Amino acid sequence: MSNVVIVGAQWGDEGKGKVVDLFTSWADVVVRYQGGANAGHTLVVGGVKTVLHLVPSGVLHPGKKCIIGNGVVVDPEALMDEIDVLKSRGLLSDPTQLVVSENAHVILPYHKRIDAGREKKEAIGTTGRGIGPCYEDKVARRGIRVRDLGKPESLRTKLTARLDEANAQIASLGGEKLELKPLLDWALQLGRRMQPYVGDGSETLSHEVARGRAVLFEGAQGTLLDIDHGTYPYVTSSNTVAGNAVVGAGLGPTAIDEVIGITKAYTTRVGNGPLPTELNDATGEKLRTVGAEFGATTGRPRRCGWLDALVLRYAARVNGLSGLAITKLDVLTGFDTILVAVAYKLPDGKTVSEFPSDPELLNDAQPVYEELPGWKEPLGDLREYSELPANAQRYVERVEQLVGVETIAVSVGAERAQTIVRKNPFRHV
Ligand code: GDP
Repeated sequence: MSNVVIVGAQWGDEGKGKVVDLFTSWADVVVRYQGGANAGHTLVVGGVKTVLHLVPSGVLHPGKKCIIGNGVVVDPEALMDEIDVLKSRGLLSDPTQLVVSENAHVILPYHKRIDAGREKKEAIGTTGRGIGPCYEDKVARRGIRVRDLGKPESLRTKLTARLDEANAQIASLGGEKLELKPLLDWALQLGRRMQPYVGDGSETLSHEVARGRAVLFEGAQGTLLDIDHGTYPYVTSSNTVAGNAVVGAGLGPTAIDEVIGITKAYTTRVGNGPLPTELNDATGEKLRTVGAEFGATTGRPRRCGWLDALVLRYAARVNGLSGLAITKLDVLTGFDTILVAVAYKLPDGKTVSEFPSDPELLNDAQPVYEELPGWKEPLGDLREYSELPANAQRYVERVEQLVGVETIAVSVGAERAQTIVRKNPFRHV
């Protein structure tokens, strides 16, 4: 049996949703271990479209267990909205199918107001969902956890201790203060509704592992957005790398068998921060248009560029990648030549082939490109690796060589079926 972690190998938006769907079909248990309501899986049940942000899409399959680990920050209202929609579609009839870790931290209305106030003052590109401020409270040891929503007296004490300071922060950002009583009532009411799903995520998961069930750890965002290993400070507020899968779920490192990095066949990034291979020209525009590289919720155009082998090699290192899944290879059809960054020339004249650990060096890093021949054939209908045009195979194999990790899947279109699987990382299937 094997336990597999999926991580984004770039700056997020690598097309993880589709790969997670595929891997979910092979797994028995799906776990979220970091981030908040920012995963985003579109489900179509009975012709009705629903987007799940927090609950793993494994919930669609009655036999599969879904765990929201202690490392996730949970917006209780968003969670209950998702649960209500699932129930209205006849899903999640067995509440034990979903376990929300009682040690996960809760996003409260003041976290959202602080987030929104900061964003108004200075657009830093957060999603305004309170995720950053909630992680700040966790680290400052003043957070409220899922378990607290079931304990009225201690919740009152904790919220009383926190609210004055939170309100001062909200007021300084021009926002509206919160009252204790309605906040407490709101939290307790949601705590009661969440109760059937709340449990010990770590214990549940270790039991599943002991039974030999295959576990998929589903990462959100990407490696270069990791709070420690990303392009700080343009990062998210949690560890997105594979090592955090066990921390955020309550197991030890020996539980993991495979770590699969998802990468697009090129590079994109949303918002500010360094992006060495960014193309502000017609080629960048073509990648953006053909790849439909616009933010899912904001519609903001994503910054686009050629694939960066330094980024992927770095992702292989900090995640311990054992496999790659390359998405959107179809988007590269029609380019005469395709470039891949294999080194950077730094302002001091030095050329480096490893991703620099100082993100400030990235601002003026000039990529050194290797040129590969392109292909003209559309890839969307291909299902076997051997059917790919010779130059597309050559591209995939050169990426493997540069990164030092094998490619286990290649995605050639947005549809579920448009995936070429070379190896199933869940060995038992
Ligand atoms: P995620 O957050 O990592 O899942 O990434 P996104 O939300 O940006 O999802 C990627 C988008 O690209 C989705 O709309 C997918 O349907 C689409 N997509 C995923 N894989 C492919 C692919 O191989 N080719 C094309 N053309 N589109 C894809």
